[in-house]
Amino acid sequence: MMGLTHTLLGVGGFSALTSITPEYFSLDATTLGVVAIGSLFPDIDDTNSWLGRRLWPIAKVISLMTRHRGFTHSLLGAALITIGMILVANAGYSIASVFLFGYILHLLADFFSNSGVPLLWPSKERYRFPYAIQTGGVLEYILSLTLGSALVYGLVIHFINLSLSL
Ligand SMILES: [Zn+2]
Repeated sequence: MMGLTHTLLGVGGFSALTSITPEYFSLDATTLGVVAIGSLFPDIDDTNSWLGRRLWPIAKVISLMTRHRGFTHSLLGAALITIGMILVANAGYSIASVFLFGYILHLLADFFSNSGVPLLWPSKERYRFPYAIQTGGVLEYILSLTLGSALVYGLVIHFINLSLSL
């Protein structure tokens, strides 16, 4: 999947989550940014990914240690990287859970790609949906357009409701 699709899926999914559970999560620029980073983070193992190009030295080291869609695309990777955020980057549990939400949606999206994901790494077994979406294909662009439209609609409704409640 493309970085744009991952970002739209993560941010759109989080917007939907906040509309269902507004008492637990707030929809603001910081949390949306963290969700976006979480939804792009697993592709840090690819120096050609959006995040990999921006954090090239880190991506290069990781790509030398693991193949693309390896460790960072597993449940263990999601858990360890999120725990690392809490322990090393001193992220709060709220920020870490938002990051993990975006991360898990990335894994879910790649589950629909041709190569699938090694969810139970270090097991080499890869899991994928029987009907894969080709990365950069027409179906992915339609998906991105739909997600983007739903996101814009959701954000407009959210901020209209917010301004009416003030
Ligand atoms: Zn990926």
